Amino acid sequence: QRIGYAVVGLGHLSLEEILPALNSCKNSKLTALVSGSPEKMKKVATQYGIKSENCYSYETYDQIKNNKEVDVIYIVLPNGLHKEYTIRGAKAGKHILCEKPMANTSQECREMIDACAKAGVKLMVAYRIQYQPHNRKVRELIKNKEFGAPKFLEASNCQSSANPDHWRHKIKLAGGGALPDIGLYCLNTTRFVLGEEPTEIFAYKYTTPGNPLFTEIEEMVSWQMRFPSGVIASCSTNYNVHESRHYRVLCEKGWVNLDKAFAYKGQNLTTARAEGKLELNQNVGIAETDQFAIEMDHFSDCIIKNIKPYTPGEEGLQDHILMEAIYQSAKEGKPVKINSSSATAGIH
Ligand code: NAD
Repeated sequence: QRIGYAVVGLGHLSLEEILPALNSCKNSKLTALVSGSPEKMKKVATQYGIKSENCYSYETYDQIKNNKEVDVIYIVLPNGLHKEYTIRGAKAGKHILCEKPMANTSQECREMIDACAKAGVKLMVAYRIQYQPHNRKVRELIKNKEFGAPKFLEASNCQSSANPDHWRHKIKLAGGGALPDIGLYCLNTTRFVLGEEPTEIFAYKYTTPGNPLFTEIEEMVSWQMRFPSGVIASCSTNYNVHESRHYRVLCEKGWVNLDKAFAYKGQNLTTARAEGKLELNQNVGIAETDQFAIEMDHFSDCIIKNIKPYTPGEEGLQDHILMEAIYQSAKEGKPVKINSSSATAGIH
């Protein structure tokens, strides 16, 4: 059985990663397209063999409810549109796979979770890192205390951006700046790798005055999180430096380092084990696989078996609660305590 996907929004991520990945999926296939551009849609439909009756505009989107070939709607639109298209998609009776960040606010996430629950459809947030084999290996090494107890985690996800007119620089469509777009990888992956939830956050935010790229959104955020086990995570994200996409977990008897951790490919996992005064280094080779294909096949599997996805809406909600605490801490200049919320129930 192959689950049919309608992909909504034919931008960079859809065209360069998601549509090609669907071709290599085991139990997922592309069956419909939704786009605001008839010319682009025609070209993409021809390339992927999608018939014209399975091509929708944003105006005809709701008619997907009558299309039996569509089981899942995959929302790959600017962040500020995720809520509307999730709720409309749920009302059409389709399961929803929604790109990260899940929405602009935690309140929007709650509305999306409620709408999907009410419609009896599944909701998954596309946190591809949680399906990516190298990152999963790190989680396993930490869980098994392969290098002793973890004590400190450093994560960084930075890139430079150049176009102030892009939706990523407009607060209504982006919901924020570097933090929800790329800093989110540090936040979500830290929680995933450690398998626990932070209890306190302290953050700094900075934006260069007068830079036209950052009139609506922040340029950089740096924050620390304290976890119940005693681990401290130190994370940074910046839209105005050369790229970095790595993290390292420092443990009692060694460390685990993942370069290109958040990239689409090219992950490089290395470890160090302290043996007395010696340090034994190892490069952990793992075959490269298409993480987008693994992610979509996971969701299809959940639909076939009627089980909850590994990264459900609650996982997205938790990140939004924490990002709101990060902004609050940066604004107030003091640590913010995190109440254990219903969002985290059953996540680990
Ligand atoms: P993009 O700008 O390349 O594409 C966005 C698409 O949305 C375009 O086709 C655009 O025409 C369409 N769109 C519809 N209404 C729009 C509007 N009002 N304003 C602007 N565009 C509109 O963006 P992208 O990089 O493909 O990102 C799309 C989503 O995917 C975002 O939520 C982003 O955070 C997420 N994303 C995730 C990953 C990942 O690795 N999981 C990577 C990149 C992007």
